[in-house]
Amino acid sequence: MKQFDVTIIGLGPTGGTLANLIALHGFSVLILEREKSHYNLPRAVHFDDEIMRVFQTIGITKDFLKYTIINKGTKFVNSKGKIVLDWPRPRKITENGWYPSYRFHQPDLERELRKKLNKYNKVKIKHNSIVKKIKNYSDHVKISFNNTKLNSVHEVKSKYLIGCDGANSITRKEVSTKMHNLGFTQKWAVIDLILKKDKKNLPDRTIQYSNPKQPATYCRNVGKRRRWEFAIKKKENEQKILSEKYIWSFLKPWLKKSEAYLERKTIYTFKSAISKNWFKGRIFIAGDAAHLMPPFMGQGMCAGIRDASNLAWKIARCLKNKHDDKFLRSYQSERISNVKEYVETTMRMGEFVNAAESIEITDNISSGSDGTKSMQSIKPVLGKGLGNNNDINRGKIFPQIKLKNGKTLDDKFSCSPILILSSELKNKKKLSKFNTINESDVLGLSELLKSYNSKAIIVRPDRFILQSCKSVKSFDTFIKYFNKF
Ligand SMILES: Cc1cc2nc3c(=O)[nH]c(=O)nc-3n(C[C@H](O)[C@H](O)[C@H](O)COP(=O)(O)OP(=O)(O)OC[C@H]3O[C@@H](n4cnc5c(N)ncnc54)[C@H](O)[C@@H]3O)c2cc1C
Repeated sequence: MKQFDVTIIGLGPTGGTLANLIALHGFSVLILEREKSHYNLPRAVHFDDEIMRVFQTIGITKDFLKYTIINKGTKFVNSKGKIVLDWPRPRKITENGWYPSYRFHQPDLERELRKKLNKYNKVKIKHNSIVKKIKNYSDHVKISFNNTKLNSVHEVKSKYLIGCDGANSITRKEVSTKMHNLGFTQKWAVIDLILKKDKKNLPDRTIQYSNPKQPATYCRNVGKRRRWEFAIKKKENEQKILSEKYIWSFLKPWLKKSEAYLERKTIYTFKSAISKNWFKGRIFIAGDAAHLMPPFMGQGMCAGIRDASNLAWKIARCLKNKHDDKFLRSYQSERISNVKEYVETTMRMGEFVNAAESIEITDNISSGSDGTKSMQSIKPVLGKGLGNNNDINRGKIFPQIKLKNGKTLDDKFSCSPILILSSELKNKKKLSKFNTINESDVLGLSELLKSYNSKAIIVRPDRFILQSCKSVKSFDTFIKYFNKF
């Protein structure tokens, strides 16, 4: 029976990201994907700066950037055409070293992730492979799958298995008996179009039409791609809604039939739910397998990529040293509270789009002089987990600082932990397992450390702060703790 370090079920954006991150650490990866190619119905069109950092770590940004545009933000408009809320995404590089928000076409990302995976000798991708059975043992997992092209059954052994197998995950059935339903269920039609010519009067931002008669969303996507989404009433006939006649009549206020190609159309039921458990023994779930959210904030895929980034280095560490249940448990506790904040905010946004203008989507809303409300993006930290949970810096993302040699933090240390030191500590004995940077490597590092009220900081491979050290005196105790790390 063939053996792998890690087997991943599903080659969507979560599986593709996770496989790339594990491969970066040098381990063998098998990916089993039921389809013969990537999914081709309309899905993700937006991701943020935190996610671009993960793509940077994987090494796909140079090629992938060509297929993205910077997102200018979202406006919420009521049935009278009045802007009732603005969510601007300034064209300004953030602390993550990228623009706050990008638009893309999901198949372009999936292609770039696969292109990169094909460069690793130890990565095997098996398409037309549907996983049927999974069995957890104390030191491995056994996986049976059918090759639907050859009509054959196969078995493999793997030290770890991660189900990135989407909303109807078979892996979830192994790790969790319960999906915690957060309460949003609504059917929406999603229509992707390609303009035949530029159409200047179409907005270059996302518009959420908070209209009780017909809640709808318009997305300004990459190049000539545009998307419209609209809510469907319970009794409406789905076949009729997806007919060309109905679609072009809905699009009348914006577009004539002669002005665009209808590329893809489908109906989704948007749901909000989080799996109660995210792992059992050596089996884990990530992405839509672990959580579902409506797409109003464009954060569903982003959450899956955050899962992959959190889990990859932990699995790699267990493969390198030894299996550590307690250490791996932090994956679930750190990720659930983070994703819950996105799911709940997205649900409130959904209610707002459903024309409940009284809903406060986030705490970060201010009113301008003309009375227009403006919303800021949320930045949830990690839930309780590794490191000292009383440390106020722990669980925050560490900025992508520029080093004096011109490189950035993420370019230089692609998947290793980093010890950041103030000049007072630079001659102290450090641990060889940490890459170290100090004030002579980075301009402005002392101000940055001051802003964290710290003399030293340990940054995890997923760029979150593991722990900070407040004083020179406490450094020896602080660093001793990480001997075990
Ligand atoms: C209309 C819409 C718009 C969206 N917009 C955004 C957005 O702008 N931004 C954003 O971040 N998110 C968005 N999302 C959410 C995003 O598309 C999903 O969260 C994301 O695709 C989930 O990725 P995944 O890899 O976890 O799962 P999936 O993409 O569903 O991949 C799962 C894979 O597993 C395979 N699989 C399943 N079962 C098996 C099996 N038994 N054996 C083998 N293979 C199997 C499937 O074939 C599939 O390829 C949107 C979703 C929708 C519906």
